[in-house]
Amino acid sequence: MSDPQQIHDGIYIIGGPGISHAQDAAVFIVQCGDELVMIDSGAGINAEMLTGNLVRLGLDPGRVTALVLTHCHVDHIGSAKYFQDTFACKVIAHELDAMAIETGDDILTAASWYNTRLPRMQVDRKLTKEHEILRFDDEEIHCLHTPGHTPGSISVYLDRTGLRVLFGQDIHGPFSPEFLSDIGQWRDSMENLLSLKADILCEGHYGIFTGREKVRTYIEGYLDQYASL
Ligand SMILES: [Zn+2]
Ligand SMILES: [Zn+2]
Repeated sequence: MSDPQQIHDGIYIIGGPGISHAQDAAVFIVQCGDELVMIDSGAGINAEMLTGNLVRLGLDPGRVTALVLTHCHVDHIGSAKYFQDTFACKVIAHELDAMAIETGDDILTAASWYNTRLPRMQVDRKLTKEHEILRFDDEEIHCLHTPGHTPGSISVYLDRTGLRVLFGQDIHGPFSPEFLSDIGQWRDSMENLLSLKADILCEGHYGIFTGREKVRTYIEGYLDQYASL
């Protein structure tokens, strides 16, 4: 197990394989003044551990005001209802994945694949544009629509102390008709992410990549891998 920790100025990883539960995709926190913005929420098996990890870092879980869901898969959204109910944070997701999140559809959310159920919940704010800017305490967090893995997948980025930090959760795929994946859309989405020239990539399952070259190489590696699909 590794510890929850700060990745960059006010940006933390509090969950993920080896940090919280093996089925949790990575869970990130961005501190914006007094507010904490959470990006994804893990699989829902051990939500209390995520709040415990916040406390370990000296962060008050009651200050989580927003939870941005990168897409509708249960390993990323399983604890969302717990956080919404417990801390009254606003849940934000792209409208094209919102129906799956709100109905807890077993196939679209991959709940059946993980042999679990997803509690029904409301998405408080549905993103509709290609690029939307969320503002928290005078800071800007960008949400880019990056469909491919699922129709409503988004990637999140922000600029802080001279570095661009990108949260790209399932940019490696996988792709499946059950997820309504679209490999053509995914390629365009990856080109979009490359154009951001991010300095740090916070990935959902494979860790954190620091340095522009490493980020570029990681994304291009998947474009090469799936070039024949
Ligand atoms: Zn996924
Ligand atoms: Zn995932």
